[in-house]
Amino acid sequence: SVPKAGMYKRTSSSSSSEKGGEDGIIIEEKRKKASGDGFTVHRYMRGKLLGKGGFAKVYLCTAMDTNKMYAIKIVPKANLVKARARQKLQAEIKIHRTLKHEHVCEYKHFFEDRQNCYILLELCHNQSMNELIKRRKRLTEPEAAFFMRQLVEAMLYLHHEQLVIHRDLKLGNLFLDRNMNIKVGDLGLATRLENAEDKRKTICGTPNYIAPEVIQGDKATRGHSFEVDIWSMGVILYTVMVGKPPYESKDVKSTYQRILNNEYSFPSKVTMSENAKGLISSMLQSKPADRPSLNEISMHPFFTNSFIPGSLPQSVTHVAPKWD
Ligand code: ADP
Repeated sequence: SVPKAGMYKRTSSSSSSEKGGEDGIIIEEKRKKASGDGFTVHRYMRGKLLGKGGFAKVYLCTAMDTNKMYAIKIVPKANLVKARARQKLQAEIKIHRTLKHEHVCEYKHFFEDRQNCYILLELCHNQSMNELIKRRKRLTEPEAAFFMRQLVEAMLYLHHEQLVIHRDLKLGNLFLDRNMNIKVGDLGLATRLENAEDKRKTICGTPNYIAPEVIQGDKATRGHSFEVDIWSMGVILYTVMVGKPPYESKDVKSTYQRILNNEYSFPSKVTMSENAKGLISSMLQSKPADRPSLNEISMHPFFTNSFIPGSLPQSVTHVAPKWD
């Protein structure tokens, strides 16, 4: 008999195309009809593993009724036994589903069965900026400006239009679509403020990218806000231009110490414009209020006085582009 829900290995030996590296796993969704009576069944062909997160695995998948490709984030319910974990996923979905922007990875759909929760997402074909920097070591300045400008656009939308603080901006959460455009992803630590003046006190983030006021908790400040994302954007710009994060050290404790002392420098062997250094230094200021606003960032000479390509060829995933 046919399994009622969930994933099962296809047993028939029908030949599947190689597209998407399918392994024969079919995910079945039973969707309640809008009318209230009965279900419609939707099937998704699971493809290759795209990446792993703390709680989830993300696979390529094809909706079998439309042939459209997505990324599907699969969270085993075994990982959601604790109330905290469940609330986190619910919060992520609650925020993510309301967002729609060219440079924010689009949330498509949620469903669940007995074993798993499934989140369908816009597919980003070219992994994340993390893999890009691993392969390329560092980017040219026009590329850095190209990506940074898109990140600024995404953050203008999140901060100003949605009052959402991402709180985990890092290279691994900047996905790249097939045209090498940035899609900000993983809203697992995001929070939405009711008023722009509100503050948050929960400690979260990723060691290398975390802002000093988050490490300090509320000893020095009344909590943190949008400025924590500006700090992380500074860390991101430094990292793509220099090839390693500014405060990296042997362990988390010394990284935090370096962040609190704001100890970083621009290596002399890496050529960087004064505009690039100036913009990075302004974003990496210990006092949140000293950091530039997104509007100030977008008007910085790093963007307005330099060449920024209109698009990037896919070859930049492996080699530096040449402009003539
Ligand atoms: P977690 O919230 O558990 O950290 P993420 O959302 O960061 O999970 O996803 C884990 C990994 O899966 C990412 O680092 C990335 O490599 C990959 N991934 C996530 N979403 C997509 C997507 N929409 N398209 C392509 N790959 C993705």
